[in-house]
Amino acid sequence: MAKKEKLPGLCMFCGRTGVTKQHMWPDWLGSVLPREGAEHTQFITRTHFPTPDKFVISPDIQFKRGPVGSRKIRKVCGKCNSGWMSVLENQAKPALTAMVRDEEFNIPPELQRILSAWAAMTTIVAECTDPLSQAIPPQDRIVLMDSLNPPEHWRIWFGRYRGQDWKQRYHHGGMLVARSLAEAPKYGGVPNTQASTFVVGHMLMYACSSTVMSPDTHLVPALASKLARVWPISDRVFAWPPVDVLGDEEVKWLSDDIYSRCIA
Ligand SMILES: [Zn+2]
Repeated sequence: MAKKEKLPGLCMFCGRTGVTKQHMWPDWLGSVLPREGAEHTQFITRTHFPTPDKFVISPDIQFKRGPVGSRKIRKVCGKCNSGWMSVLENQAKPALTAMVRDEEFNIPPELQRILSAWAAMTTIVAECTDPLSQAIPPQDRIVLMDSLNPPEHWRIWFGRYRGQDWKQRYHHGGMLVARSLAEAPKYGGVPNTQASTFVVGHMLMYACSSTVMSPDTHLVPALASKLARVWPISDRVFAWPPVDVLGDEEVKWLSDDIYSRCIA
């Protein structure tokens, strides 16, 4: 897996050379948090069909040293990083900071768009840390870069977290969804559906996308009612922080929910 990193790097968004080091999560996010969190956790779940009659789910938990902002990757060029990605980052930063700290603010439609584009960008960048579970196709990256909107088939929510286990945690489930085991090989073993859960401080972000599943099958209603769906955007203005809070058990349920959604 490390061999792939040594090839001349092309930007995962624009395809240009000149890839530079970039933070997987924005480095300022870690600094917004109290100093207690010097470690973050990354969960990766891969789903495979090694043969047409076999279905394998491989969970992997990785504890990383340092705050969330310390993780770096080399998948994005300097032009994208300091251009549209930096603009989006700066636009989203005040709202994200308020969510991490559980402070009051409002989320009108335009801010829903900014937050959802930031969420899609962060999801795409984070997903590339585990190529085996990568499920977002290149065309989704291009839609985001060109329009500064997530693709239409994405669904993105923000929520308010209060608990112990998830203060700095990233969970990614990348899986291959097929209507039957016999149909699975036609996808070439490449995941086509993903769910990403990010928690930093009190901020919870959840993003799902699939090239085969209907987008509105992504979330169980009992969880959806506790979250603010920012993509697709609505006319609502969400007052933050919301009354509903998700604790450790609910965030675990949320992060695993995609697996039950996939079994139709
Ligand atoms: Zn680029």
